[in-house]
Amino acid sequence: MRHVGRLRISWETPEQLQAYLTQKEEAKRRDHRKLGQDLDLFSIQEDAGGGLVFWHPKGARMRLLIEDYWRKAHLDAGYELLYTPHIANLELWKTSGHFDFYRENMFDQMEIEAQQYQLKPMNCPFHVLTYQTHLHSYRELPIRWAELGTVYRYERSGVLHGLMRVRGFTQDDAHIFCLPEQVANEILGVLNLTEQILSDFGFTEYEVYLSTRPSKSVGTDNIWELATDALVQALNIKGWNYVTDEGGGAFYGPKIDIKIKDAIGRLWQCSTIQVDFNLPERFDMEYVAVDGSRQRPIMIHRAIFGSLERFFGILVENYAGDFPLWLAPVQVRLLPVSDDQRNYADAIALQLKQLSYRVEVDQSGDRLSKQIRTAELEKVPVVAVIGKREVENQTLSIRTRQSGELGSLKLSELQERMQKAIENRQQI
Ligand SMILES: [Zn+2]
Repeated sequence: MRHVGRLRISWETPEQLQAYLTQKEEAKRRDHRKLGQDLDLFSIQEDAGGGLVFWHPKGARMRLLIEDYWRKAHLDAGYELLYTPHIANLELWKTSGHFDFYRENMFDQMEIEAQQYQLKPMNCPFHVLTYQTHLHSYRELPIRWAELGTVYRYERSGVLHGLMRVRGFTQDDAHIFCLPEQVANEILGVLNLTEQILSDFGFTEYEVYLSTRPSKSVGTDNIWELATDALVQALNIKGWNYVTDEGGGAFYGPKIDIKIKDAIGRLWQCSTIQVDFNLPERFDMEYVAVDGSRQRPIMIHRAIFGSLERFFGILVENYAGDFPLWLAPVQVRLLPVSDDQRNYADAIALQLKQLSYRVEVDQSGDRLSKQIRTAELEKVPVVAVIGKREVENQTLSIRTRQSGELGSLKLSELQERMQKAIENRQQI
């Protein structure tokens, strides 16, 4: 038993100690704050303030790919997309209860025409207001609305940490409004989508937690039982093992939390699925039931990445900056040995660009060894050296991060290999 700072860590064997030290060393090497700077992905600037993220072109390119993927996955899974404002009248936050229960994480209000306005810490009330714009029939349910919604939360400066803990971030948020008898199926749908998305980003091992009714709670026994049974049923159909946190749920409903395991065995809490009996009540939400009566819909909050910023930080650390080809900001860099090969390099770059590859020609004029070194430092997945012989033979001399030297390839052969890596969402 040893004490490290405030942590008490025990190792049963020298191997365990070694594994711990290796993981610590690996974590340092993978630190997203350092890689973010080295690879020019993002910055957080004191001039602008703590916890506020600037996405640089390469990071923004990756974010765009992540967002495009996310939008398509959601549309395919039967969601509609919403865009909502960044501020709203304080009265809304009073109705939602955030002003009472979440105030310490909210920034101060601003005054507009003698009314108090609040920067949004959550998207939920906006989706509820959208629902309230007309009366819904049971036939319209379930309604699934997703939004990449940017929220602002007041985190104390002492706890800010790179992309992991920030003051402005974008949630991959969604709300499902459904009938009580639809809950289990909706939760199963969310679990399936979560697995699909997380595994496409390289995370295939999860730890799953089910949190049940705490002693202080709103909602009837009946509704708690129905919702908790629905979560259990969905987890069982999915076949996922889970740990039950008895009484660990929020006062307004039970939830499922999913932690992902990264390449060095660390767990990260990302996805949450939360049933909510409170907001529908507070906003007096209704639908018209089969018998014509007015009933409350069940509301489910869910996020898969959690926060785009934080998930991006986890991605950077998981891959140590060696991203799978479909996400790499620059996929191919062409290195002309001398100016004589520049025209050929430009022509190849144009062809690849037209096929939607992200390609660059090294324009530095540096010696080849320096160009190779630069591409290595920037972790460019595919490097194509172009010398006299390559121009003569209309080929490219290829080396990749994962496989090293591949020798002389025709452009079509390179394309084939890249296409395969992209389709399989693998590194190359
Ligand atoms: Zn919500």
